[in-house]
Amino acid sequence: MDFELSDEQRLLRDTIRSFVDAQIRPVARQWEDSGRYPDEIVATMAQMGLFGLLVPEEYGGMAADMVSLAVVFEEISRGWMGVAGIIGSHSLSCWMIAQYGTEQQRRAHLPALATGERRTGIALTEPGAGSDLQGIATTARREGDAGGSGPSGSGVSPGDAVSPRASTGYLVNGRKTWITNARHADPLPVLVKTDPSARPAHKGMSVLLVDPSAAGFEVVRDLPKLGYKGPETCEIVLDDVRVPAAGLLGGAEGRGLQQVLAALEKGRINIAARAVGVAQEAYDLALRYAGEREAFGQKISGFQAVQLKLADMAMKLQAARLLTYWAAARADAGQRADLESGLAKVYASEVAQECAFTAMQVHGGYGYSKEFTVERLYRDAPLMVIGEGTNDILRTVIAESLISGRGVIG
Ligand SMILES: Cc1cc2nc3c(=O)[nH]c(=O)nc-3n(C[C@H](O)[C@H](O)[C@H](O)COP(=O)(O)OP(=O)(O)OC[C@H]3O[C@@H](n4cnc5c(N)ncnc54)[C@H](O)[C@@H]3O)c2cc1C
Repeated sequence: MDFELSDEQRLLRDTIRSFVDAQIRPVARQWEDSGRYPDEIVATMAQMGLFGLLVPEEYGGMAADMVSLAVVFEEISRGWMGVAGIIGSHSLSCWMIAQYGTEQQRRAHLPALATGERRTGIALTEPGAGSDLQGIATTARREGDAGGSGPSGSGVSPGDAVSPRASTGYLVNGRKTWITNARHADPLPVLVKTDPSARPAHKGMSVLLVDPSAAGFEVVRDLPKLGYKGPETCEIVLDDVRVPAAGLLGGAEGRGLQQVLAALEKGRINIAARAVGVAQEAYDLALRYAGEREAFGQKISGFQAVQLKLADMAMKLQAARLLTYWAAARADAGQRADLESGLAKVYASEVAQECAFTAMQVHGGYGYSKEFTVERLYRDAPLMVIGEGTNDILRTVIAESLISGRGVIG
């Protein structure tokens, strides 16, 4: 058993760490506080090829393994977790297009997404449905249907995967909310119901690659957030938005939820890694501060109460990292990793939250100040508990896997 990163992964980590130290740390507090979009950081990330992390090499990407992906997200999140969000849902959707897209879709989108010339995100959540994705209300009605090949035609039961051959495209109506990178996404993959009457509902769900310049597509507002500043997170209205049939991911209806859930498995490794980055930063700052601050005539690191906090942070942080790399390595080995990525995401996000609060306690009153970084870590950490499946939902997924015997521990 080898717990070490490969030489390539270590080189990647050192490269990202230098970039974060040089370009992200010096501006993070000020830009986060002022709500400034980190354009310069994005430009460097594009030059470094980070928008192509999960794009296959033949389309100009890096085709990184998941452990490398985890290393990148961890390092960026040590500097500013919000910046990791800019390549987060982007990478997830790149993977989804590469994995499930038609050759025409891959060629049309992946090269520009790999360089960052175009970017993307993912639109799943709605005002009325987040965890319950089968409860979404956004619909895509087929236009120009010749009547021979769809649910309304003959021989195909509602909900079966069907080809939109006879259709010229879709008319999309609905509202999506909490969509990160919404103002920069082109195309934006949107989860819709192509057959709202399908039972179970997922058999009527599809992903459409929506062109944001299409009439009726509007980003209506930016949501005010506790943390995770940097990337915008928005509400979107789709009002009779036309999407050509070529925009149906993979060219067949009824596969959207499955495509999205597979992509979220990758996304959970990215979220776990971001949490590890936040926890590491919290620990580093607490350790440093404890060695500098004096009270009662000695460094506070001499107090056992502070020492216990540092030891707990180090222990849980390292356990979270190992769980995350383990989940990533399982995915790299081509094994199903929904259990592993769920375990890593839940544990690492809760460790990040705990470490951020503990670091704040070690800093005393200064930890509550906007002039100290731990305050931002404390605001950023909870997103990892909520995003890409809340921890409660993931606990039910983990339990289901264990009880059914699909997932085994030990
Ligand atoms: C900053 C930010 C960025 C985001 N970015 C994106 C994005 O880019 N794209 C996107 O599509 N979404 C995004 N989201 C949305 C996010 O994925 C959802 O908020 C999340 O999935 C939870 O959905 P919800 O908010 O509707 O909560 P709900 O589903 O309403 O859940 C509310 C509570 O009920 C619990 N609950 C619900 N169902 C169950 C159940 N069956 N068993 C046990 N407990 C349950 C939940 O755990 C939670 O505690 C983002 C959210 C945030 C905060």
